[in-house]
Amino acid sequence: MPTDHRPLLVRNVCLPDGRSGVDLLLQQGRIAAVGPALSAPPDAEVVDGGGWLFSPPFVDAHFHLDATLSHGLPRVNASGTLLEGIQLWGELKPLLTEEAIAERALQYVDWAVARGLLAIRSHVDVCDERLLAVRALLDVKRRVAPWLDLQLVAFPQDGVLRSPGALANLQRALDLGVDVVGGIPHFERTMAEGAESVRLLCELAAARGLPVDMHCDESDDPLSRHVETLALHTQRLGLQGRVTGSHLTSMHSMDNYYVSKLIPLMAEAQLQVVANPLINITLQGRHDSYPKRRGMTRVPELMAAGVNVAFGHDCVMDPWYALGSADMLEVASMGLHVAQMTGVAGQRACFDAVTVNAARVLGLSGYGLEPGCRADGVLLQARSPQEAVRLRAQRLLVVRGGTIVSRMAPAQAQLSLPGRPAVVDFTRQTVPASQEARR
Ligand SMILES: [Zn+2]
Repeated sequence: MPTDHRPLLVRNVCLPDGRSGVDLLLQQGRIAAVGPALSAPPDAEVVDGGGWLFSPPFVDAHFHLDATLSHGLPRVNASGTLLEGIQLWGELKPLLTEEAIAERALQYVDWAVARGLLAIRSHVDVCDERLLAVRALLDVKRRVAPWLDLQLVAFPQDGVLRSPGALANLQRALDLGVDVVGGIPHFERTMAEGAESVRLLCELAAARGLPVDMHCDESDDPLSRHVETLALHTQRLGLQGRVTGSHLTSMHSMDNYYVSKLIPLMAEAQLQVVANPLINITLQGRHDSYPKRRGMTRVPELMAAGVNVAFGHDCVMDPWYALGSADMLEVASMGLHVAQMTGVAGQRACFDAVTVNAARVLGLSGYGLEPGCRADGVLLQARSPQEAVRLRAQRLLVVRGGTIVSRMAPAQAQLSLPGRPAVVDFTRQTVPASQEARR
């Protein structure tokens, strides 16, 4: 987006911190001022925020942009399981073209922007001699950069040790400009090889000065404990704050005594955690009859220990998941339900998991609504973060670099009932704003 366009003044919004009746002045690609009754520069475009919630943009901390929108190619996942999904992706890979990957990714980015989702960390499969998906997504990253921050993780889907050539391909992907070192220790042949993959990938990241984000312990096996090894090497190599464990679903099934030691180790290593509620609730517990486990990691307990926890969408219409539409409020809502975070603070924490917490995972700079932050945000048809999650609120305006890049009509029904209002909207404030506010 050009940043030399007219200033944008958004009048009368509320903010996630509970302030209301606030104006935002966006100028030169930055937030210039936040406060009541700001005066409009003479050349400013002025829009009425209608008292609705203005939030920093949604951030997806975990996605697969190389597979998205490929649902049904070359066939659908009949069992719906993780392993059939991986097998199906293996069948699809030889049929992929760089153009088709890019075309699907660009369509998904359109959906994302319209939903106010302006930053995505996407894993990209490097288990392919041609590195087609890597090349396609590096091109997409460059093309969409004006309106969406795309961060790429070199992801050895078939196992960096288990798949011949995977380590060399992963390094080639990093040489081409992929941002983050990925891994999948639980998919290696043995626990020992899984641990070895964590060691070598962390050392590779340390040597290159890159962050790490591994698919880690994405299983229901309570003895899948690679996250412990990840915490160990994070500390040994001085990578604190730069390493993310994605999924960590085995933690759901682990022995409580073991977890009482593990979570403090994770906090000490400043590991970041990404749960993927829609996918975890769908793919995990598949070997169970009843009771069926939920298969999401221990989100409230990790948060209580001071670990930064974000939520990711992971999949939309791909070999693993037939649903989804780039709606991070749907992700937050599922996370809230699966983790039973139904209290006021818990609901708020689930909104943070798809905004500020996710921005921390990506290491985004200038994220937020303070003066000097990037002039990015989304106007939601809701009066609070909790209400945004409840309603999966309409994105009335999406702003990038101080420019409106998407508009959506308010959700509203025309009612024809005697003695009742003609227009129905679904907002209703039941908790005083002062209680909802974080500060
Ligand atoms: Zn994933």
